[in-house]
Amino acid sequence: MPPQANEVSQNSQAACDCLSTSFPDKTLLRGTPAYELARSQYWTRVQQEASPACIFQPVDAPDVSAALLILKQFNCPFAIKSGGHGKFHGESSIDNGVTIDLAYINHINLSEDGRTVVVGPGNRWREVYMALQPFGLTAIGGRASTVGVGGFLLGGTLRIFDKDGGISFFTNIYGFAMDNIRSFEVVLADGSVVNADKQTSPDLYKALRGSGANLGIVTSFTLDTIPYTGMYGGHRIFEPRQSEAVMSAFLKYGDNIQKDPKAFVILAITTEEEKWIWATGMYYCDKLMDAPAFRDLKAIPAVLDDSQVQEQTDLIESMASSYPCSIQNTFWVLSTKPNAHILRYMVKTWAEEMNHVREVEGMKAQLAIQYFSDGVIMRGTRRGGNALGSSIEEPFIMYNAEPQWAHAEDTPRVLAAVEAAFRRTEAEAKRCAVLVDYLYSNYASQYQDPFGSYSQQARVFIKRTADKYDPDGVFQRLRGAGFKLTGTLSSATAKEELERRKTLHLNL
Ligand SMILES: Cc1cc2nc3c(=O)[nH]c(=O)nc-3n(C[C@H](O)[C@H](O)[C@H](O)COP(=O)(O)OP(=O)(O)OC[C@H]3O[C@@H](n4cnc5c(N)ncnc54)[C@H](O)[C@@H]3O)c2cc1C
Repeated sequence: MPPQANEVSQNSQAACDCLSTSFPDKTLLRGTPAYELARSQYWTRVQQEASPACIFQPVDAPDVSAALLILKQFNCPFAIKSGGHGKFHGESSIDNGVTIDLAYINHINLSEDGRTVVVGPGNRWREVYMALQPFGLTAIGGRASTVGVGGFLLGGTLRIFDKDGGISFFTNIYGFAMDNIRSFEVVLADGSVVNADKQTSPDLYKALRGSGANLGIVTSFTLDTIPYTGMYGGHRIFEPRQSEAVMSAFLKYGDNIQKDPKAFVILAITTEEEKWIWATGMYYCDKLMDAPAFRDLKAIPAVLDDSQVQEQTDLIESMASSYPCSIQNTFWVLSTKPNAHILRYMVKTWAEEMNHVREVEGMKAQLAIQYFSDGVIMRGTRRGGNALGSSIEEPFIMYNAEPQWAHAEDTPRVLAAVEAAFRRTEAEAKRCAVLVDYLYSNYASQYQDPFGSYSQQARVFIKRTADKYDPDGVFQRLRGAGFKLTGTLSSATAKEELERRKTLHLNL
């Protein structure tokens, strides 16, 4: 039985007392500076505002195992946190329950032959790249320095399965991050610590690659390394009057990704001081200034261009600085076949809906657009990747909303505008038969159901594997939020959802 609302505090208190007795140095109690510091280590403000009964900071898998057994014993709700870049309240934080903060499981061990690296989930990608770069190596990881290894690789649960995920600068060359995980060390619901790879537990290994936090707490990832020889990247800023040229150049780049997979473009339409601009991120996985892949974009007159040869460790810092922490944010995602009409429609609709909230203080109304070629999945598979095989047979474009604003009181209006833009575009994409049924959970909003976008076969497999490794449904019942196998919202999210629905008539 799930704990009742009035039970939660008592249960949490008992669990915190027990954790604190067994692990006094690793259990942070309310009212202490250490607790407040750990509580603040989230990207978005709404997660920082959560108030766990206590925070547990394990240093290894046995610590995690012991904590999980205590939480089970007291029927205590919990959250699992790595880098804290989950986008919504409760994704990796919790009110009144226990936060398992993996920040100190932060080992980085390069193998002797340099072909693999074992990383703890508590690392941010900055640390991983800095450790590998001196050896002329890197890994398929996040593009903002502060993003956590754990959530990025697991997607907070159900992000990928028959369509993989974990998008890196190197994705066009080597596939998605999931394609490059050799094995997981995972603590299961019964407290056992298991190494899951293709040979030892193929079903668990497969299922973890798309249902991470629904099956256990991952305490280590073994990743393939890849050669690193420097990078080129930055932004080219265009005025809205260049929209047609920018979108055409982007589609042309996408059609030709296969010719030069070292190039990666992130197209973004965004506002700066209430004015619309195009901020086009151009990245190249080598020290090459003038890659032909960017020729069309570079031919369009720009207001500013700061792209240059630089190290990946610098690029990811400037990326992180575009996404400041401690403010209000949301993400929302949609995938379609590459299609000029839908690209234009999404951009126009985004601008229309976000114009309703343009005056909101601190508003940066950013929509990011990324193109994935069929070559991405071929490359991943060639590296022994996607365990279940992939159903990405055709290229697709992923649109993701990533607006930021200053105050919580504006949140319902902003969420309504974002949802309206995406629902309208989804309907148009359906009408034009170009909707791709894939919600990438690392970019999905709490109101979307990434698991529901998997194939029936994939869902049945994950459910069966979850029943085998977590027969009591601990990760469904007690894990506070994050995407679940059932697609249900946590109670905190459900409350927020009610508020949001009240405002939907504004724009829809
Ligand atoms: C600024 C910014 C930049 C981003 N850039 C990219 C990008 O380039 N490419 C991309 O694909 N995505 C990107 N994302 C999305 C990002 O990958 C997800 O938000 C990811 O979940 C963040 O991971 P985290 O560890 O920091 O987050 P957390 O909030 O700590 O965790 C996210 C989720 O994963 C679960 N989880 C974390 N660790 C574990 C574990 N060890 N075991 C079990 N469950 C776990 C948590 O419970 C939670 O549900 C970006 C997000 C932001 C905010």
